[in-house]
Amino acid sequence: MDKITVVVPCFNEEAVITTFYEKMSEISNRLSSLAGLELLFVDDGSTDGTVKLLEAMSEKDSRVGYISFSRNFGKEAALLAGLEAADGDFVAVMDVDMQDPPEYLVQMYHMLTEDSSLDCVAAKRTTRAGEPKVRSFFARRFYKLINRISDTKIVDGARDFRMMRRDMAEAVVALGERCRFSKGIFSWVGFNTGWIEFENTERAAGDTKWSFFGLFAYALEGIMAFTTVPMCLPFIAAGVCFVLFPILALLAAFLQVSGVLRLLLGVSAVAMLCTGMIMTSLGVLGGYMSKMYREVKARPMYIVRRRGGICSGALMKSRSIK
Ligand code: UDP
Ligand code: MG
Repeated sequence: MDKITVVVPCFNEEAVITTFYEKMSEISNRLSSLAGLELLFVDDGSTDGTVKLLEAMSEKDSRVGYISFSRNFGKEAALLAGLEAADGDFVAVMDVDMQDPPEYLVQMYHMLTEDSSLDCVAAKRTTRAGEPKVRSFFARRFYKLINRISDTKIVDGARDFRMMRRDMAEAVVALGERCRFSKGIFSWVGFNTGWIEFENTERAAGDTKWSFFGLFAYALEGIMAFTTVPMCLPFIAAGVCFVLFPILALLAAFLQVSGVLRLLLGVSAVAMLCTGMIMTSLGVLGGYMSKMYREVKARPMYIVRRRGGICSGALMKSRSIK
């Protein structure tokens, strides 16, 4: 029988955790003839009664486990800890606040078991109804921007709610970078993802843990983790300077203007030349830094999805994600 481990990050969620647990018990019963469902809660340094509730649940239910952090490290750290500890054949991640409808876990499991070409089934919202307008506006701009400048495509509306085969979960953990942006990582590791679409649902209880500025910083993290295009900006600035330099120099030499204006044009031309040279140097530095950045992150050169023929049994060196 398959085992499904569901990783659930929690930060000050005492108001909703029991509702979530009850709903998940129902889902577990629905799946019981096919798969065993385990709940792996990661308490991200809660200061309310979350840990007490998790302790009680894990004592009375052998399908529940929890990890509790020494302080709040952020949802990304909680997701990583959960994925590292999860040992199911299928690993799911979801929020505890019921914004990720638990009943979709059944559909995700069926899709994965019935279609062997799928490695992951993820959920995305078709609407952002109920979300503050400013947040939706900036979220949309963010997805547009990142998809334009990064090779890693990030689906607008995708939630951190998905079920993966074990191989994919291992690949996600193998990306040892510290500035983690899971939406990007799930896409970067590849594999085939099927999508379930649903309407946005509001939190069952409690408040969102994200402030506007927290989300803004997270978006910047995503951009910096998945593209080095901003490092090319000095080259664009240098290009502009090198176009302006001869124009200003010619104007200074041949335009019939007063001496002061001629001097001003001449100084501007020299300034453009110098700035262009500085920007070119910065661009070159940026180019090398982007290579260093890639080396430091040390992402796997490739990830193997399946093997066949004479490679089937061989545990090759290329299985570097292990
Ligand atoms: N969360 C966490 N650590 C944090 C912030 C949030 O583990 O520092 C958890 C939270 O308990 C919830 C999930 O991440 O299960 C999503 O958080 P939230 O609902 O506040 O985000 P939103 O849905 O508003 O984006
Ligand atoms: Mg939420």
